[in-house]
Amino acid sequence: RKLGIALVGLGGYAGGQLAPALQETDHCYLAGIVTGTPSKIDKWRRDYDIPEGNVYNYENFDTIADNPDIDIVYVVLPNAMHTEYTIRALQAGKHVICEKPMAVTVEDCDRMIAAAKEAGKLLSIGYRLHFEPHNIEMMRFGQEKRMGAIKHIIADNGMGSTEGWRLDKALAGGGPLMDVGIYCVQAARYTLGTEPVAVTAKEGPKTDPEMFKEVEESLTWEMEFPDGVTAVCKSSYSENMNLLRAEAEHGWAKLEPAFPYSGIQGETSDGEMDCEGVNQQAIQMDDFAKAIKENRPTPVPGEMGRQDVKILQAIYQAMESGERVVV
Ligand code: NAD
Repeated sequence: RKLGIALVGLGGYAGGQLAPALQETDHCYLAGIVTGTPSKIDKWRRDYDIPEGNVYNYENFDTIADNPDIDIVYVVLPNAMHTEYTIRALQAGKHVICEKPMAVTVEDCDRMIAAAKEAGKLLSIGYRLHFEPHNIEMMRFGQEKRMGAIKHIIADNGMGSTEGWRLDKALAGGGPLMDVGIYCVQAARYTLGTEPVAVTAKEGPKTDPEMFKEVEESLTWEMEFPDGVTAVCKSSYSENMNLLRAEAEHGWAKLEPAFPYSGIQGETSDGEMDCEGVNQQAIQMDDFAKAIKENRPTPVPGEMGRQDVKILQAIYQAMESGERVVV
């Protein structure tokens, strides 16, 4: 049986990526929606053949507990809302995928992980790149020391513009670091297979102080890993950047662009990476459905999301204090 997924929050990512990907999945399907915007319901129901009984709003959401069609709730709301809806879904007896960043504080991550344990349900974070062949190749390049140990990493992720809740600190938890910089933190961690011990950070200038009055416009930070390995990273809401590069003892590997939904290109000092393009979200959601069916852990669990949030918080602390912060 295909497991039923309900998407919570029908915005850009849910509508543009997740719902289409759920047309390509083998182990799960789009069974329901949770939305605060009634005008969206008709089109979603028509496009995806969703029965009326599988449509929820934020008030009656908890009654999803009584709906056997829904096995998994996928939380695709603004960052600061992840904790509440993840916990409510777990308490309703559903497995949960929550989008990145997992939450805006480590304490919230802890509450989410505790709720999953208490409910005996799986909790996963939407880290699609763990299922993307070029990024998997990068993990092997680093962790298997294909060209010797990695000495240095460069990771940049930036968008030329942004709008809406992403500029609102209360909803986003911060600026581009929370939204796109998290990919650089993830990439350094999965390329090296080790954890950063300390961070330093410097905020970039605000070219539009009115727009960026609550969050940073751009940020440069450095993560120190064991054995003197460093990762230098940049994230921005005013510059397009998309790069992951690893310098090893006897060569290098690079993805550029590294983090988009499609079109990722990879190269090493030995030549081009021979990897296929895939529907990352379809594989990610199918793997989660299989983890549930096979009663095994997910490779991208809440604990992984928590570690990233912990590092993001350390980077902000370093940015604000100007000091080196131990993670
Ligand atoms: P979006 O603004 O397009 O959609 C947000 C949705 O939340 C909208 O449907 C909106 O109506 C709803 N919402 C409910 N309460 C709201 C409130 N108080 N303020 C604003 N919106 C409210 O955002 P998005 O790009 O779809 O991002 C949603 C989540 O998905 C974020 O956590 C983001 O980081 C994550 N995301 C992940 C990826 C990825 O590649 N994994 C890509 C994009 C977004």
